[in-house]
Amino acid sequence: MIGVDRGVVVSAALSDGQLLCVPGLTTGEQQRLRRLRRRFARRSYGSNRGDRVRQAIARLIARRTDRRKDWVEKTSTDLARRFDLVKVEELRIRAMTRSARGTVGRPGRRVRQKAGLNRGILANGWGLLVARLEHKAPGRVEKVKAAFTSLQCSACAHIASENRKSQAEFRCTACGFTCHADVNAARNIAARRAVTARGAFQPLGEAVNREPQLAASAV
Ligand SMILES: [Zn+2]
Repeated sequence: MIGVDRGVVVSAALSDGQLLCVPGLTTGEQQRLRRLRRRFARRSYGSNRGDRVRQAIARLIARRTDRRKDWVEKTSTDLARRFDLVKVEELRIRAMTRSARGTVGRPGRRVRQKAGLNRGILANGWGLLVARLEHKAPGRVEKVKAAFTSLQCSACAHIASENRKSQAEFRCTACGFTCHADVNAARNIAARRAVTARGAFQPLGEAVNREPQLAASAV
């Protein structure tokens, strides 16, 4: 059994101490993307040059997406193969994605503004990772409540905001336990009991009918 935390510092932390990083663009590619975006902002409308810049931007974004998807496939296959049970946080990613996009019958409002927020959450491929994991390890993925997983000590269960020394470091003020903050959270996730039935736990009015494909298509 393994607990997986959607890390802030790294993309995913496992309760056995392993840290997994989702690949993105290289530093050079990021610089190039920034330059292209600046150039695109200054383009004159309808120009051929603007079109070329837009295509170059799209190619870089596609490259980043491919790398993330590739990582998600490899990581979900690996986790499904290595562990009999995988515990993850019950997150609101899908609910948030859904609330912004809405449904076919009821299109969402302020989609663009919310897209910015969701992009940050989906950027590390977390929603897609969980969706693929559920597909590859049916019945072997359990969701636990996310409350205080990052603030609770996985050694003595003491909860305090002072426990979180920094984004990366966890140090318990009660027992002195120190750990990578994301690994500590993953250990808490591993120790928690799963939320009862699929769909029974409804944080903040999340829609009842969940479709993992939605999260997958949103990345
Ligand atoms: Zn402690």
